[in-house]
Amino acid sequence: MIRFALTCDRGHGFDAWFSSGDSYDEQVEAKAIVCPTCGSIHVEKAPMAPAVLRARAKETKRESPVGAERKQTYAFLKGMRDYLKDNADDVGKAFPEEARKMHYGEADARNIYGEASLEEAKALHEEGIPALPIPKLPEEHN
Ligand SMILES: [Zn+2]
Repeated sequence: MIRFALTCDRGHGFDAWFSSGDSYDEQVEAKAIVCPTCGSIHVEKAPMAPAVLRARAKETKRESPVGAERKQTYAFLKGMRDYLKDNADDVGKAFPEEARKMHYGEADARNIYGEASLEEAKALHEEGIPALPIPKLPEEHN
């Protein structure tokens, strides 16, 4: 008996036993080999080990793309928040006003962060003032 690692056209890996290498070819030709996961008859011998490892690693990642992405986004936002807290002034609701003052040279340019309504943010954008919206982090929702 020979064991082959097979993979279907959707990337499912599985093992199958054959009496010989010829037997494998015959069964593939007869479309007698079916992927146990999705029922596809388009199967082939799995690529060499390193490729299989890469494919599996990708699949593992694919299992929770949303979760991983959220974690990354969260880490990014948290990092940005922390950076702002250390390196920028919190001007709170005065943000649109302060941003405008700096943009039109009525105040010294500095890093600020604060709050702006959607309308205010849009207005700033239209005036060409580079304000970056930062979504609230989960723990900051109230
Ligand atoms: Zn499959």
